[in-house]
Amino acid sequence: MQKKLITSPARKRIALVAHDNMKSELTEWAKINRDQLIKHELMATGTTGNLLHKQLEVPVKALMSGPLGGDQQLGGLIAEGKIDVLIFFWDPFEPMPHDPDIKALLRVAAVWNIPIACSVSSANFLVSSSLFNESYERLIPDYDSYLKERL
Ligand code: PGA
Repeated sequence: MQKKLITSPARKRIALVAHDNMKSELTEWAKINRDQLIKHELMATGTTGNLLHKQLEVPVKALMSGPLGGDQQLGGLIAEGKIDVLIFFWDPFEPMPHDPDIKALLRVAAVWNIPIACSVSSANFLVSSSLFNESYERLIPDYDSYLKERL
């Protein structure tokens, strides 16, 4: 697959998702990192987004709840180049009814080469990187050449 460079903006569009058993970990982490997060555009699945908005008093665009399609909405936005970072605290101990959607979200985030944090440690690495607040060039699939090869 041919690749091309695009630039993620300095003000990132950050998607946040936490499964129910991980919500307190995410909200605690987000409170500690509120000053960093507030510089960026935040969006989230429905419950996660509303919780973050309530607890941090920051604007968060809340999509549908994950099991009702929110993960798929985020995946669609990633494919459209509208999300730069994914912070996804998925639950490693509980099976989920929307497991295919979770896999799809993680897969599409890897396809479009956005940074993904699935734990507090990896989220700490992300927010403490200088790239978190700078524009960043990343390689993504070159869709025009992809189509040309197939038509
Ligand atoms: P929620 O969805 O934020 O609406 O709980 C998260 C998920 O289960 O994927």
